[in-house]
Amino acid sequence: MNIIVAGGDGFCGWPTALYLSKQGHDVSILDNEVRRKIDDELHSNSVTPISSLEERVDKWKELTGKEIRTYIGDLNHYDFLREVLKKEQPDAFVHFAEQRSAPYSMIDREHAVYTQTNNVVGNLNVLYGIREIVPDCHLIKLGTMGEYGTPNIPIEEGFIEIEHKGRKDVLPYPKQPGSFYHLSKVHDSHNIMFACKIWGIRATDLNQGIVYGLETDETKMDPLLTNRLDYDDVYGTALNRFIIQSTIGHDLTVYGQGGQTRGFLNIKDTVRCIEIAAENPADKGEFRVFNQFTEEFSVLDLAKLVQKVAKEEGFGTDIAHLENPRVELEDHFFQAENTKLKDLGLEPHLLTEDVVRDILKAVVDHKDRVIKENVLPQVSWT
Ligand code: NAD
Repeated sequence: MNIIVAGGDGFCGWPTALYLSKQGHDVSILDNEVRRKIDDELHSNSVTPISSLEERVDKWKELTGKEIRTYIGDLNHYDFLREVLKKEQPDAFVHFAEQRSAPYSMIDREHAVYTQTNNVVGNLNVLYGIREIVPDCHLIKLGTMGEYGTPNIPIEEGFIEIEHKGRKDVLPYPKQPGSFYHLSKVHDSHNIMFACKIWGIRATDLNQGIVYGLETDETKMDPLLTNRLDYDDVYGTALNRFIIQSTIGHDLTVYGQGGQTRGFLNIKDTVRCIEIAAENPADKGEFRVFNQFTEEFSVLDLAKLVQKVAKEEGFGTDIAHLENPRVELEDHFFQAENTKLKDLGLEPHLLTEDVVRDILKAVVDHKDRVIKENVLPQVSWT
């Protein structure tokens, strides 16, 4: 298949592009490299030193003989997007290319507006581009489990059967997101569902949990292929951030009580889920939703797990309960469905102590790169 990976220079997109290329797909990457610029804006960095996109794809070609074409540009520039779609004629468009940090979207008005404009307009352009140029192309869009929020009933995969005043219907599952970023994903989902209905586009919305891990078999092939790894308060996600904090002797920063429970998955499962979605496309006009996570943990569970493994590796560390900068429940019911990807063949990599140990060992070599003042939360929801 010809597959475009939009956002293919990022944390999830880069290993996905390599994996799909290795599986024999004809892959190209579209990215405006804004994530690298945001590092400069935040005076932050990836713990792992990452090479330029050009160096990355050159090394991949040298090692495997496989070419990944690159298109540097912005989804918000429709003329650019049209040209890429015309040239590639993709069978699948994997859409990772959004601003994905909740804290970043909550910094101030400008960052909220940027996040929603970048994400919602970019996604709308993708929908129009598919309609105009490649109407059969399967849109595989990264949503987030955060779209659902934390309702006091089990979370279904996209839709829920409701009985109301004696009548029944299957309706989109209610969305109660917790940041302007998560809201942008909800807006995307609505736009995609509508476009499927009116234009007959085929789409899969992958409501992904929080991704942990660093390397895949492909990114491990050479230091130039290494994935990025974020640890700061803005982009660092819970487990990865805790592991890095433990290696620099920093307390593990649990926000509030730490009972916040979420769905998680290994980056190795992210790449496989995309392959599964691509190889089992949605029907024409179908808006399909999969919940893409493998296990549920509370933030405090993760901190305790990291604390134990880190101690065994010689990094004693404490758990600090900080005042929660977010507005969210810290003790709540959470139970979510995640059977659809498993039914299509996903065999999850579960979070064991050895998995934490492996990530920790990969990080230790680069711990001198950590900018310590970036670890504590600086963005408040209120
Ligand atoms: P990332 O920031 O590392 O990568 C996103 C990439 O998209 C970057 O390389 C960036 O330069 C590019 N990009 C952003 N806006 C663009 C635009 N307008 N045009 C072209 N390129 C653009 O993020 P990630 O962690 O790889 O996340 C990828 C996707 O997965 C996001 O949509 C995110 O919402 C979703 N997701 C991620 C996680 C996670 O834990 N990382 C969890 C759930 C969902």
